[in-house]
Amino acid sequence: MPPEESELSASERREALKEVYAQAKNCVRCTELAAARKTVVFGAGNADADLMFVGEAPGASEDEQGVPFVGRAGKLLETLLGEIGLQRAEVFIANTLKCRPPGNRDPQPVEIENCKEYLYRQVELIQPTVICTLGNFSTKLLRDDPAGITRVHGQPEVLTLGRRAVRLYPIFHPAAALYTPRMLETLREDFARLPGLLAQGAPEQPDWASQAPGEAEIDRLRAEVNASDTGGADARGPQAPGSPDPDPDTEPAPAPDQMGLF
Ligand code: URA
Repeated sequence: MPPEESELSASERREALKEVYAQAKNCVRCTELAAARKTVVFGAGNADADLMFVGEAPGASEDEQGVPFVGRAGKLLETLLGEIGLQRAEVFIANTLKCRPPGNRDPQPVEIENCKEYLYRQVELIQPTVICTLGNFSTKLLRDDPAGITRVHGQPEVLTLGRRAVRLYPIFHPAAALYTPRMLETLREDFARLPGLLAQGAPEQPDWASQAPGEAEIDRLRAEVNASDTGGADARGPQAPGSPDPDPDTEPAPAPDQMGLF
């Protein structure tokens, strides 16, 4: 995480996330995906979540609705969350790819490469404690390792993504568990370890103090965030574009702090 971002309040980080959303909505880095998509499925949920999920890519329903995990796999994810006492609105859910691959084919390496900057920015701005990767694609990307999910599921590790240290926790993709009862059992067992992992809190963060910027740099970033609020930022969040900025020192972030369509 750029050191100046650690200085931003939750509402400022949320505004910056909306700016990344505004950029992603117009992304044409992957020509085929940009031509075929109906919507860019940026991600949805609590922009200040402790727990973030990263799936593979939107399917047909997600592409229609602009929200990740709204199909059968999403329903299972919600059920499993409920079993550990969490609601969907408390977490942030994103994907490795923000656009649907035609015919639900696998994401291509070049597409993952093109899209990963958005995911890293999401991590840096949401600042989750735990990132739960769902299935092979997000696990291999964020671990930067070809080891498959069957080998590494259920094994948490501390990783630095961008400039943010997180507890990465790979688990099976819920879509895979829909048709295989034994996999569902394993997924459930892995899910059951999430509360304990969250209770450990954020891992120690890297010491960026030696590179810390001065107040001027923090002011520059704040100005960028504020400018985005009157520009192209998405109107679907709780704070409409053009409305006055919350004073980060006195005003709490809107609650529940939702991004996306729900
Ligand atoms: N599968 C995914 O990986 N992501 C979605 O958003 C839906 C299904």
